[in-house]
Amino acid sequence: MIGQEQGTTMPVTRSSTSGSGVVGIDIGGTKIAALLVSSEGTVLARGSVGAPAAQGGAAMADAAAGLAASLAAEAGVPLGAAGVGAAGVIDHETGTIRAASATFVGWAGFPLAEELEARLGVPVRVENDVNAFLLGEAAAAGREDRDVLGVMLGTGVGGALLIDGELHHGPHGAAGEIGHTPGYSELVCTCGQVGHLETLASGTSIAMRYQERTGDIVRDARVVADRARAGDVQAIAVFDAAGRALALACASAATILDLPCAIVGGGVTSAWDLLEPAITRTLHTDSPVSGIPLRIVPAVLGSDAVALGAIETARRALVPAGAH
Ligand SMILES: [Zn+2]
Repeated sequence: MIGQEQGTTMPVTRSSTSGSGVVGIDIGGTKIAALLVSSEGTVLARGSVGAPAAQGGAAMADAAAGLAASLAAEAGVPLGAAGVGAAGVIDHETGTIRAASATFVGWAGFPLAEELEARLGVPVRVENDVNAFLLGEAAAAGREDRDVLGVMLGTGVGGALLIDGELHHGPHGAAGEIGHTPGYSELVCTCGQVGHLETLASGTSIAMRYQERTGDIVRDARVVADRARAGDVQAIAVFDAAGRALALACASAATILDLPCAIVGGGVTSAWDLLEPAITRTLHTDSPVSGIPLRIVPAVLGSDAVALGAIETARRALVPAGAH
């Protein structure tokens, strides 16, 4: 885990769960991570376990619930609610997984919120992990924007939209998928279509684009970043292309939706120093015609963002209503 230490606080609304904790669970394909916070937002406990993604939804729910319960026991507080940020297309109203990649066996159709509620005995809300990431980042200390594009540069490129302080899901839960917008290259995307942002800006793509230019097989984008910092012009060019495509995509979204800010997270942002020159250049040449300055900034919560956003989701959905 990076970034946060115990005792970190996040600005969250007061809740009626005084004395109990809210757990945020980040369910990924290889790892399940969780944070337990007090009603004041203080982090009381944290932990992670391997994700049994190949063993089906029930095994994943068992692992997530076990982790949450162990954190509550460690902190000595009862659980009041749980929020989840999970990979896949999520029905956020019911907390059921609508669709997921093939690495998640038995995940599509799994009623995750219902299954976790049965195991934990508390209300559970489930969000898509990129949506949770954006909610967490937008609520981080010092952030004031209520209209924000979130972009996650990881194995793929995910996106999310915050409009007037609330996540915008769209009628099919598919809003914000900026990684699969076209026009950035002539390359085939992981989705099968051509030219999507993801073909230049994901960690996987950065490694592949470098390999195509040089013939060198590299482990991942971090290797390309190291070479760029050492002056490798091909590596620099790959990050330059990624930064330019990212900024163009953000500028398009900002122009359509009047968004003053884009927050960019995911593993690739560890190379922000290499993305930033092209981002800055592109914002000069292709800024929104509204004249409203667009800020494209890196995420600040590190690997805690999804869990913190999941906690925010749970608080917003469950605590004020009290009638669920
Ligand atoms: Zn695509």
